[in-house]
Amino acid sequence: MNQTSHPTLILGGGFVGLFTALHLSRQNYPHPIILIEQRDRFSFKPLLYELLSGELHPQQVYPRYADLLPNRGITLIQDTVQTIDLHQHRVLLTSGQNCDYGNLVLALGSKTTYFNTPGAADHALPLTSGAEAIALRNQLQSRLRLAIQTQDTEQRQQLLTVAIIGAGRPELNWRVP
Ligand SMILES: Cc1cc2nc3c(=O)[nH]c(=O)nc-3n(C[C@H](O)[C@H](O)[C@H](O)COP(=O)(O)OP(=O)(O)OC[C@H]3O[C@@H](n4cnc5c(N)ncnc54)[C@H](O)[C@@H]3O)c2cc1C
Repeated sequence: MNQTSHPTLILGGGFVGLFTALHLSRQNYPHPIILIEQRDRFSFKPLLYELLSGELHPQQVYPRYADLLPNRGITLIQDTVQTIDLHQHRVLLTSGQNCDYGNLVLALGSKTTYFNTPGAADHALPLTSGAEAIALRNQLQSRLRLAIQTQDTEQRQQLLTVAIIGAGRPELNWRVP
């Protein structure tokens, strides 16, 4: 296959996909680079807590790909990968678009698991992306507002009780390129 006419496709614009694309573009990589990502913003996951708590601005933790990628020689397609045809070297996107590739980078990440914790998948709010951090912040703020308004101490206690499932310790020494 002629790799000049068929670009390198990077599927997923998380840490692996975005940094691979940026690295290749800095190396004067000879093939066109296409990054396919379903979202319009990159989530810097180790700093999601600071987005939730309001310590950092969304632009620092949750920047738009359009702001990260200009003049880098990387084409961004905002779409969802539906199927990959390894024999045809072709990726089909949800929009119906087909993308042929010379080289393929798979960087689609992982799915959140709740380790069968009863009720967790149905009721918990995950914290794995900027959008989820903002949703969680809004939920906590709304509970806080309701708690301030109520005179019922039992109800207030219930509104202010938060259960946290999973407790990693993010290291804060990462840098946005
Ligand atoms: C709150 C939190 C804090 C963390 N802190 C740390 C830390 O301090 N240190 C550390 O080493 N790790 C940390 N991690 C883990 C780290 O963020 C992950 O290991 C890393 O993000 C994995 O990178 P990835 O590119 O494989 O996947 P992801 O970053 O998940 O990226 C996958 C990308 O693929 C896209 N995608 C998925 N499916 C499709 C599809 N079908 N079509 C198009 N696009 C698709 C997604 O939208 C996403 O942008 C943390 C994770 C979380 C949630």
